[in-house]
Amino acid sequence: MNAGFTAVDRCWVCGGASLAHWYEARYDLAAFAGQDPPLAAYSGEAIDIRRCAACGFSQPSALPALDRYFDRIYDQRWADDWVEAEHTAAYKDDIFADVLSAKMSSLYAAVCSASTQSSAQRWS
Ligand SMILES: [Zn+2]
Repeated sequence: MNAGFTAVDRCWVCGGASLAHWYEARYDLAAFAGQDPPLAAYSGEAIDIRRCAACGFSQPSALPALDRYFDRIYDQRWADDWVEAEHTAAYKDDIFADVLSAKMSSLYAAVCSASTQSSAQRWS
């Protein structure tokens, strides 16, 4: 038994009220069974995901009515070995390399542009 749901009647992005069924999802909060049993009690519940006709954003048709739902769901106490593995794992290295490469290119372009402008001012 869980605390029930509160309907979401408007699009979170544009406020539109034309929300149509897109697909059905299912809550899986079993990882909270030891830490937060009332939160874990939502596991297995089906939730209708709806798409806004105006802007295309998709969102659940209802949210858990459990007090401080989002505070609780973002307060998962990860096991120390999981945190260590996430810190040392290399599977996200390509993502970080791409982000850093794009940032370095952007900074290089900005420095070159500033240098060109500075030279132009010096000779005018
Ligand atoms: Zn919308």
